[in-house]
Amino acid sequence: MKFSTKAIHVGEKPEEFQHGDAVSPIHLATTFAKSSITEVEEGYVYSRSGNPTRDNLEKKFAALENAKYGLAFSSGLSAEATILLSLLKAGDHVIAFDDLYGGTKRLFNQVMKRFGIEFSYVDVRNLENVEREIKKNTKMIWLETPTNPLLKLADIQQISSIAKNEGIIVVVDNTFASPYFQNPLELGADVVVHSITKYISGHSDVVGGAIMVNDEEIYERLKFNQNAVGAILHPFSSWLVMRGIKTLSVRMEKHASNAMKIARYLEDNPMVEKVYYPGLPSHPQHELAKRQMKGYSGILSFELKGDLKVAVKFVESLQIFFLAESLGGVESLIELPALMTHASVPEEERVKVGIKDSLIRVSVGIEDVEDLIEDLERGFKAVKQ
Ligand SMILES: *Cc1c(COP(=O)(O)O)cnc(C)c1O
Repeated sequence: MKFSTKAIHVGEKPEEFQHGDAVSPIHLATTFAKSSITEVEEGYVYSRSGNPTRDNLEKKFAALENAKYGLAFSSGLSAEATILLSLLKAGDHVIAFDDLYGGTKRLFNQVMKRFGIEFSYVDVRNLENVEREIKKNTKMIWLETPTNPLLKLADIQQISSIAKNEGIIVVVDNTFASPYFQNPLELGADVVVHSITKYISGHSDVVGGAIMVNDEEIYERLKFNQNAVGAILHPFSSWLVMRGIKTLSVRMEKHASNAMKIARYLEDNPMVEKVYYPGLPSHPQHELAKRQMKGYSGILSFELKGDLKVAVKFVESLQIFFLAESLGGVESLIELPALMTHASVPEEERVKVGIKDSLIRVSVGIEDVEDLIEDLERGFKAVKQ
């Protein structure tokens, strides 16, 4: 089966549902009654350790990444935390892309470091930086691609082959691309993690996370720890996410085609200094994007000519784009990394990775692109005055 068919049908089995429901029912029960004492360990027992609605969603997750196993978490970050505490121990070392999602860096630096895990941040776009950083105790390489907000890419295949020789586990945060456009396990990665809050759920109404893996031993460790710490997704949220996934392919096509048109429009605009979008031939890693992604997804950033004040005026004058953090929903969002998503990053570090004050990040939604471009025109007119 191909992607859209799986997204719709996996985890929905009318023949297994009591009344032949065409969509998976929501099982809200926290506990499950047994008819005799000999059955108390059979089937579903307690909803943290197993829930039929969540199980159906996890089957869908696995299908999206062509993986053997999927797990549904209460947030992207609780999924990430479970990966670290399941697969690492005190004294282990992790090599991470230096341009990670801010919450991931906070988890690494302010939580996991206290338990004796060591992190090195390198620009993995240069493979020598990865090779140079590998030590005896290096157990994991953590990638995010494309990154936020500068859309830098990591070469999953090359880095995974370096890691394989050293017995190092490769984790890829695949949130920005979505499983429709990129499948890291097929490129050699061991673990895929998503904030399903973004594209997978897609309607800005669920916070959740997903992990997809093929290795049974890794899966068992993750599943054990997920139950041990209780980082599970609620059945109602699970159901909303299943509903969202059914339209993932059509949403992603529209996100990507709208983003491409907006990227071209911005690139032609004399008031724009620079556009960051992996789908543009001007992107320094466009060839890698073509190779490892099936499409370029819906996030782009651009630098306005001018300072922070100009950028503030621009985003505040829009009417359709919501001035908001997050991404991946059907509605278009715009934000200023320097004041919003990346405000907690010290200015010095921001400058080092290339996040200027006038940088604007856009999560392109699936509205009519003509309306979105007209809204951006409104912004340019406002800053011209
Ligand atoms: C949002 C996000 C996360 C964190 O996910 P939550 O669901 O907010 O916990 C992790 N990685 C990336 C790339 C994200 O965009």
